[in-house]
Amino acid sequence: MQFKRKDLLFSLCGLNCSLCPSFVQGTCPGCRAGSHCAAVCPFAPCSVEHGNVSYCFECGEYPCRHYDGVDKHDSLITHKNQLKDIEKAKQIGIDKYHEEQTVKKQILDELLDNYDVGNKEIFLCLAVNLLDIEDLKDILNKADLSTKDMDLADKYYYIKQLFNDCGEKRGIELKLRRDGYYG
Ligand code: SF4
Ligand code: SF4
Repeated sequence: MQFKRKDLLFSLCGLNCSLCPSFVQGTCPGCRAGSHCAAVCPFAPCSVEHGNVSYCFECGEYPCRHYDGVDKHDSLITHKNQLKDIEKAKQIGIDKYHEEQTVKKQILDELLDNYDVGNKEIFLCLAVNLLDIEDLKDILNKADLSTKDMDLADKYYYIKQLFNDCGEKRGIELKLRRDGYYG
């Protein structure tokens, strides 16, 4: 049996593919055969052996040993909320989870269209992944009002500061932890 998935927005192992820098750059199609992650991760072949589950939370062995420390290191996308997001999708159901993810994706698209001074996807994806929807909306509204006359670079650094201030207030560091990156 081959590794096959239909959901290209939320991965087998709990990553928000639709909010991933590789996905928005168009270099990875999302979690399926041929994706960046599938080439190196232990979850994909394992899911095939476990009934071809679409999400690991559907597997009777979840959380298995592959999840030990999985949220301690980042790749290009943050893994900080990986276990939390899996749990959330399991609790509220994948359709409801997709609804929230879609709102975040719309916010991310607005940021990429109007605030990305160039190659800033990694930070913008990180902020959208980790901050909650209400905070993101407030920041976007404030920045839209305050940056009307600014050039793109100033707009980006203005909104970046708002994200960092919000992260600090919430105890969320907006920085990737790449020390243990395996892929
Ligand atoms: S690199 Fe991984 S997390 Fe990012 S879109 Fe591809 S499969 Fe999803
Ligand atoms: S939960 Fe663990 S054992 Fe089950 S499919 Fe996922 S990686 Fe494999």
